[in-house]
Amino acid sequence: MSQADSNQRFLFEQTEVRGELTQLGDTLAAIKERHDYPANVMQVLGEFVAAVSLLAARVKVDGSIILQAQGEGQINMLMAEIVDHKNIRAIARFENDIDQSQPLLSKGRLAITIEPYIGQRYQGIVELQKDNVAGALEDYFERSEQLKTRIWLASDGNRAGGLLLQALPHAAEESSLQRQDTDAWDRLVHLADTVKQEELLELNSEELLFRLYHEEQIKVYEPTDLQFNCSCSKARVARAITQLGETEAREIVAEQGAIEADCQFCRHVYRFNNDDLDEMFDSSRH
Ligand SMILES: [Zn+2]
Repeated sequence: MSQADSNQRFLFEQTEVRGELTQLGDTLAAIKERHDYPANVMQVLGEFVAAVSLLAARVKVDGSIILQAQGEGQINMLMAEIVDHKNIRAIARFENDIDQSQPLLSKGRLAITIEPYIGQRYQGIVELQKDNVAGALEDYFERSEQLKTRIWLASDGNRAGGLLLQALPHAAEESSLQRQDTDAWDRLVHLADTVKQEELLELNSEELLFRLYHEEQIKVYEPTDLQFNCSCSKARVARAITQLGETEAREIVAEQGAIEADCQFCRHVYRFNNDDLDEMFDSSRH
């Protein structure tokens, strides 16, 4: 049974391991509707969107979180952004003829950018090998956050799913009376390794956690809804046009009747005529 797009946080009680599950369907459908991406590009993009959702679930700051891959394969660039932990948009740039037998992303770099509303922008870059986005993201968590992390991603182009396990930072010599479950990490990772692609895509979070971990005690938190929602706006595009300068902007309107700019993510077309330019350049003079 499919369910609404969401992130589901959970915690293994009596252990220092937490987890996140992500499931996406409508979000991918919305991306597909706007871009006529081939099925295998959608499949890789689906995993990528699942990856950014898991990343956002583990990053505390409010703002925008961007995952961008630049590869040497047939897909030159993948980018997925999540704003306010719920609004997702994504694009892919690739060669026109995709060869099924060759790696799509191949090796390259994965950049993780965090742009909080308040405070400093942060960027971390990790190496990407053999299309392995999950592995690159695990590296990021280990290097930047010193958190032991494992990630499983799945996508068939229509739906995407992901599972993340993370060892909590060590509590300072925890109350030594309580015996720690020291094998927990290995055991939980081993069980997660048995997860099948169909299970990540088709089971709801309750069924999936039961399937993998019915012998564990799990605390499940309130899920967070996810959706496709582009953060573009006419005001933002207007700021970019203002950078062109008034003379050039007026020339384009004189020649073409209007400036048309479409958002590369959602394909919305913004039109600017002379009245818009009056307003933009008037307000930029103040
Ligand atoms: Zn847009």
